Order: sequence, then C-alpha cells, then structure tokens
Amino acid sequence: MGVHGEKGYQDWKKNPPAHKVPPFIADCAMTSRIQSKLPDVGTTIFTVMSRMAEEYNAINLSQGFPDFEPDEGLIERLEHHLRHGKNQYPPMSGILPLRQAISDKLRDYSRIDVDPETEITITSGATEALFCAIGAVVQPGNRVIVFDPAYDSYEPAVSLAGGETVHIPMTLPDYRIDWDALEQALDPDTRLIIINSPHNPSSSILHREDLDRLAAAIRNHDCYVLSDEVYEHIIFDGHGHASVLTHEELRGRSMAVFSFGKTYHVTGWKVGYCVAPSDLTVEFRKIHQFNVFTTTTPMQWAIADFLISSPGSFLELGAFYQHKRDLFCSLLEQSRFRLLPAGGTYFQLADYSEISDLGDTDFANWITREKGIAAIPLSPFYHAAPDTRIVRFCFAKQDDTLREAAQILNTL
Ligand code: PMP
Ligand code: GLN
Repeated sequence: MGVHGEKGYQDWKKNPPAHKVPPFIADCAMTSRIQSKLPDVGTTIFTVMSRMAEEYNAINLSQGFPDFEPDEGLIERLEHHLRHGKNQYPPMSGILPLRQAISDKLRDYSRIDVDPETEITITSGATEALFCAIGAVVQPGNRVIVFDPAYDSYEPAVSLAGGETVHIPMTLPDYRIDWDALEQALDPDTRLIIINSPHNPSSSILHREDLDRLAAAIRNHDCYVLSDEVYEHIIFDGHGHASVLTHEELRGRSMAVFSFGKTYHVTGWKVGYCVAPSDLTVEFRKIHQFNVFTTTTPMQWAIADFLISSPGSFLELGAFYQHKRDLFCSLLEQSRFRLLPAGGTYFQLADYSEISDLGDTDFANWITREKGIAAIPLSPFYHAAPDTRIVRFCFAKQDDTLREAAQILNTL
C-alpha cells in the first residue's frame, strides 16, 4: 500500500468517516498504486468481440466455440457422476481413469507409450496447461520463440515467468514456419519454442517434415518444445496430425497440450491435459498444484467414460468440421471475400481487401456493429502485424447459422 493509501487508511480508522468511500479507496481510483506486471495486456480480443456481438445482437463468428450441444451420451455421464458422489476434490494430477484412458488412446491411435502416472496431468483447459508448461521451464532472462500470428496466451505467460518473447513471423500467404529464420534466432538463452498445429488463427498445419526441421534446428541447443495441439482432431483433406509425441527425437524435450473443449464441443468445461516426460511433469505439477490444484471432478469422470465408450466421436471430428468448412466456403463463393486455405481448426481466414480499406480491427468492429456478423481481427496475434486485410471467422456453428451469416456476408 502506498503512502497516500496507508495514511488515508489510518486517518479513516482513527476518525470514522462521514464519507461513503474511505480515502484509501478513493486514492486508489486517482493514482494507480500497482506497477502492472503486464502493462501491454488488455482484455482478450475473444472477450471483446463476443461482448460486442452480444451488444449488437450479431451472429457470433468471432470467439471459437460451437453454437450446438455436445453429445447426449457425454451429458448423461456428467449427470450420472454429479448424482453419484463425484463432487469432491480429485487427485491433484487428475483422476487416474482419465489419465489411463488418455494413455490408452495414445497407444491405440498414435502408437506411443505414455505413463499415465508420471507423464499426464489433467488441467483446467489447455490455457492452464500452457501457463504451467511455460512456468515450468522458463527462468528470468530466458528467451522463448513464438511464430506470429501466435495464440494470445503465450506471451503473457512468458512475461510472468520473467522470460522474453521472440516473435518470428510465419511466411505469407501460406502461414508456414520459416525454419531458417528459427535457426538464426536460436541462441544460448533460448529455452523454449512454442509451436501450434493445427494453427489458430491461420488454420495451417505442420507436417512431419516440419518436425524434422525443428528437431534438426534445436539438436545442439539446450531448449524445450511446447506443442499446442488442441485442434489435433480437427484436420482436413486426408492429412494426419503430426504430433511432437510421435517424433522420437522431439518427444524427450517436448510438452504437448490438448483440450477436451474442442474435441467434445464443451469449451466451457475447461478440461485439458499436458503430456510431458516425467522430469518435466514434476516441475509442471509444482505450478499446477498451486495454481488451480486440480480440475473439476465430475467433468473428468464424464470425459473418461465417454473417451472409452465412444472413440468414434473424435475419429469423426475431422469429417464433421470439414463439412462445415466446405459449406461455409461454398456459401461464400460468390462473395467479395477471398477465402484462404484452411487445413485444420474450426477457423476460416477471409481477405476482405476487395470490400474495404479499413484496418482489421476497424473492419471487425464495423461488420459486428453495422452488419451483424462478429469476426476476429488478426493483428492482436502479432508483435508487428503485416499490412494485410484479413479477419477470422469461426465455422463451429450449426449449418443454419452459417447460411444466415453467409447471406449477410454475400451482400458486402
Ligand atoms: N490454444 C489454442 C491454439 C486455442 O485456440 C485455445 C482455445 N481456443 C487454447 C489453447 C485454450 O484451450 P482451452 O479452452 O482448453 O483452455
Ligand atoms: N481459443 C478461442 C479462440 O481462438 C478462444 C478462447 C478464449 O476466449 N480464451 O477463439
């Protein structure tokens, strides 16, 4: 508490007040006593745009979440566990049946062995997993490399760990990683490289050869990889997902992060997990246990049951969303948007340069306010945004919602 605040508080205590607001609180409003640890951070663009969509009653194609319900079977399992005693703290690292089910899934579908006891931690969404993973390995003064446009939670977590974020732009127009640029950027202070495939916001994907390039680049460097694979099952056109967990050389130095929110259409449940070698998992859990301690019990049980009983639901996810991507794109075929290739995720980038000269934030605000369609601008994902006219639409929506949105977008 600063001098003003402390003095104000003491005076206020000695002489109980006539004012409504104690002076130390009034002081707070006038002079900020807090030196922000994240001075450049505001409210996330997802919250800003969803709030705006609500305010203007716009169709919300901004923040990424489905406008349809999850599988009835999953809901039934949740109801069951809520009514059958699964309402108290679970183990800190997550319930073993869920960790076991994840390990079985990795063995059966990705042919890799992961120890559920020592290498898997259930988290409160992938966001928490990213935060703990970054905190686990980044020391003050370390450098962390991200590829722009980069998901918005990476840099604040690096800053809070005392690290410096190094931004390498992805190549345009295809949003690929320039591995030569990575090699040039690596130095002895580089502790972590963050990759994300399928990629939010661009929808590009990494291939096996990309992982080979990454492995070769960091072979003689003392650094780790954090791989954000939350859209692992939302991948199109017959491509397989290239996970760091399946890459022998990368596996031993990688933490991979996943989210059931995306896979089971339950973004609000906030259940994810991190797979990492046991020594990294030990450090990861030290942060997890004093951050949230653990993750909601009934959701973990419901997901464990569903993962075992309905493996088909994640196997069909790619085709499910490919249909939506194709529908959305065909509906916009006659529009003045130029749609960029989308290899995965439930996002579609659209170049609007034939429609408007506005910058992307202004354009997103304008179509939300004036046209009733909310979108996400790309510049918040950049350290230095390029001069492009591109916004992101989320197509995780009912077909009718996409039709209704396209009708409006076709008039622009
Ligand atoms: N990483 C990426 C790339 C994401 O798009 C998201 C959320 N949409 C997350 C992490 C966070 O996932 P969760 O909602 O499970 O915290
Ligand atoms: N990841 C989601 C998106 O890209 C949003 C998550 C959030 O709002 N934090 O839209």
